[in-house]
Amino acid sequence: DATVRRIAAGEVVERPASVVKELLENSLDADASRVTVAVEGGGVEGIRVRDDGVGMTAADLERAVEEHTTSKITGGDDLDQVGTLGFRGEALHTIGAVSRLTIRSRPRSGGRGHELTVEGGTAGEVTPSGCPPGTVVEVADLFYNTPARRKFLKTETTEFDHVNRVVTQYALANPDVATTLEHDGREVFATEGAGDLESTVLAVYGREVASSMIEVDGGRPEPGADPSGPVESVSGLVSHPETTRAGREYLSTFVNGRYVTAGTLREAVLDAYGGQLATDRYPFAVLFVEVPPDAVDVNVHPRKMEVRFDDEAAVREAVTAAVREALLEEGL
Ligand code: ADP
Ligand code: MG
Repeated sequence: DATVRRIAAGEVVERPASVVKELLENSLDADASRVTVAVEGGGVEGIRVRDDGVGMTAADLERAVEEHTTSKITGGDDLDQVGTLGFRGEALHTIGAVSRLTIRSRPRSGGRGHELTVEGGTAGEVTPSGCPPGTVVEVADLFYNTPARRKFLKTETTEFDHVNRVVTQYALANPDVATTLEHDGREVFATEGAGDLESTVLAVYGREVASSMIEVDGGRPEPGADPSGPVESVSGLVSHPETTRAGREYLSTFVNGRYVTAGTLREAVLDAYGGQLATDRYPFAVLFVEVPPDAVDVNVHPRKMEVRFDDEAAVREAVTAAVREALLEEGL
């Protein structure tokens, strides 16, 4: 029944950042090359995600907000599911149950635009809408009908921090997608979508950090060595040991292209710096680790994006070696 559904939804959609994450995922799945995330009041008042992806027909729109509907096929326990709402085809339906959700979409391949509004789980009619190709999803008044959940929200600043982190992770993981984040009408960052990590880091973290970044390009087995090791490659950027922050949220790790948190990876990076980091300071890192899909366990804590590796020690060693080598090349 509707109440049970609302409570269940409140447990999976934790906060504005969880909504942003799902909408961003959908835009990227829709092959967008440009995505704009605009939030008001930390995302509590409103969230709007606009993309230039494949878009939806009127029939697609209707289906998109129904329960358990997805146009996507997935292999089950794969890394693609890390951190998503846990079920395929649940995000829009779930978000629609706890907010006022409006979707406007027009297929990129041609045809007219349409819009659909869902309020507290009740979908309205699909009506024509003059919108550009692609999709705009607006979420207003999140948790307006679940006061208990709404009470758990933190200040606008804290909620926006979470939103910022999510959008930053996706921007860094997708340098070929021009990603813009706005808060209360002000641009927070905008990546070019030029495809290179350097310009993406510059857009997201600014010039001081970007200019201190050191390229990591390692982890590949030596020519002739056994290629079936637990790590295929380790690449990305890490900062000079003097460019640090007090929080570890700037140490971003991605496994097979997905943002993950893994103590193993974080410690591996820190180890590579030896004693060069000041106490309680963390470097910036944007590190991509590629492993065979069956060498990583994604079911540790789906919503927190935690993963574990079959061979933690080997992964740790490979990551430390790759980062160490990069620092050594800079004489560090
Ligand atoms: P899932 O992403 O798991 O399929 P969602 O509830 O997030 O489930 O989305 C339901 C469906 O709506 C998707 O399968 C997709 O077909 C469609 N959809 C959602 N967002 C977009 C978008 N931004 N562009 C195009 N289609 C979308
Ligand atoms: Mg989705």
